[in-house]
Amino acid sequence: MPVCPNCNYEYVEGVTICPDCNTALVDEKDLPKIEELSEKDWVLVYTSGDEYEVQMLKEVLESGGVEANVLSQKDRNFPAPGDFSIVKLFVRKSDLKQALNYIEDAKKNNSGPEENSEES
Ligand SMILES: [Zn+2]
Repeated sequence: MPVCPNCNYEYVEGVTICPDCNTALVDEKDLPKIEELSEKDWVLVYTSGDEYEVQMLKEVLESGGVEANVLSQKDRNFPAPGDFSIVKLFVRKSDLKQALNYIEDAKKNNSGPEENSEES
């Protein structure tokens, strides 16, 4: 998805120049926006080595109306052998409580067999 680095606005595929400011659009994944955002009003709510898991949580949050961002990166400070990457999930501070609730629920639902409530 092309994004204007100036306006932070997303455009449809095929657009290469921002109609608002004439800046060349960059690909969304080339934009270091999450690191910037995290210092302002974005908070880290979940970290995992499993990108699939984090993407799943992101979908859970978004289906609940909580905007979420995933940042996937190699952690060079972590001298693990092999291919170790950290996947981070960010939400807005104002959504933090709600996001943590959704994550907790999602983890419960996905943690395999659990004692069920006796009946309903
Ligand atoms: Zn622009």
